[in-house]
Amino acid sequence: MEPRKVTFPHMGEYWIGFKALAERMGCEVVVPPRMTVQTLELGTRHSPEFVCVPFKYNLGNFIEAIELGANTIIQAVGGCRFGYYAEVQAAILKDLGYDVKFIRLDAGRNPLDMVRGFRDKMGTNKSFRDVKDAFFFAARLGLAIDEIQDFARKNLGFQVTPGQIERIETKYLARLAAATNIREVDAIRQEAKAELGSVALDRPENPLRVAILGELYLVLEPFSNYDIGRQLALRGIEVHQPLTITEMINHSIKGFKHVDELIAHSGGWVDHHLGAHGTESVSLSYTLMKEGFDGVIHLKPFGCMPEVNAMSAMQKLSREYTFPILFISYDSQTAETGVNTRIEAFCDMLEMRKKGVVSA
Ligand code: SF4
Repeated sequence: MEPRKVTFPHMGEYWIGFKALAERMGCEVVVPPRMTVQTLELGTRHSPEFVCVPFKYNLGNFIEAIELGANTIIQAVGGCRFGYYAEVQAAILKDLGYDVKFIRLDAGRNPLDMVRGFRDKMGTNKSFRDVKDAFFFAARLGLAIDEIQDFARKNLGFQVTPGQIERIETKYLARLAAATNIREVDAIRQEAKAELGSVALDRPENPLRVAILGELYLVLEPFSNYDIGRQLALRGIEVHQPLTITEMINHSIKGFKHVDELIAHSGGWVDHHLGAHGTESVSLSYTLMKEGFDGVIHLKPFGCMPEVNAMSAMQKLSREYTFPILFISYDSQTAETGVNTRIEAFCDMLEMRKKGVVSA
C-alpha cells in the first residue's frame, strides 16, 4: 500500500498545529502551499458556483497539495454547509481523476469522542493516549500562535521601530514549527512573550479599538480577507479577534453551555443558536459595544446563512446604539481594492467620531 501522505486546508499559521497532529499519527505530511490568487482560481473553477467561498479555497488547497504528492485529505465538518464539504469535494476530486482518501474530522459533542473517531478513521496503530497527546500538542501550538498573533494585532501600529514585531513573530512561528514537545512549546511561548513585551511602543492613551467578527474561515485565514486585521493594526488601531483556534477548542469542551452563555450575555439580541458562529457575532457585538469598543468589522462569505441571520440583529443593534459595524461580504469575485476603500472610509469615520467631529 502506498504510504499515507496527508494534507489539510490552509488556515493562517495553524498549519503548524495540523502538521504536528498528522505527523504524530505516523503520517508523512504535505503542507498545502500558501494561498495565492491561483489557489482561489483553481478552487473556483472546479466548485459549484454558489457554494460558500471557504469551500473554494479548500478545494484549491487540496488540488495544489495533491499535485505535490498528497493522497489523503483531512477535512473538518460542521453543522452548516461545512457538514457536506468533504463529500462534495471528494466527488469533485474523483471526477477530476484524483485518487485520494478523505478523513472527516468530526468535532461531535465530546472532544474525547472526536479523538477516538479520528484514531479509527486514520487506521493508525497509535494508542488512544498517543492520539490524545497529539491533539494536546497541536492545541498547545495553537495557543502559542494565538498569543503571539494577538499581541501583534493589538500593537503593530504602535511599534517605534517598524517591522520589529513582525520579525519577532516570524522567528517564533518558525521555532514553533520545529518544536517537538509541549515543554518546548511552552518555553518558546514564554520567550516570545518576553521579547514582544520588550518592544518599544508609542501608544496613545486611548487608541481606537476595533474587533473582527464573523465566519470562522474568513476570520482565521488572512489571505481570504485581504489581511484586514494587519491593515487595521498598521493604521494605529488596536485590533481584537475573539475567534481563534484556542477559543474554539475551549468552546467545544463547554459544548452547548457555550451557546447558552452567549445567548445569556447578548442583551436579548439573540435568543436561539444561529448556527456556526452567527450567535457569537450577535452576542459579541453587544458585549463589545458595552465594553466601549469603537467598532466591529463583520466578515461573511456570500450566501453564508448563519452570518446572514446574524446580520439583521447586528444591523438593528448598530442603529439602536449608534455603534459602527462594517459588514463585508466575500466571494471569489470580491475585489481587494473595494474592500480596502471601505475599510479606509470606516476607519476615517471612527477617527472623526473619536474626535467628536461626527456622531455616528
Ligand atoms: S459558516 Fe457559512 S461560509 Fe462557513 S461553511 Fe458554514 S455556511 Fe459556509
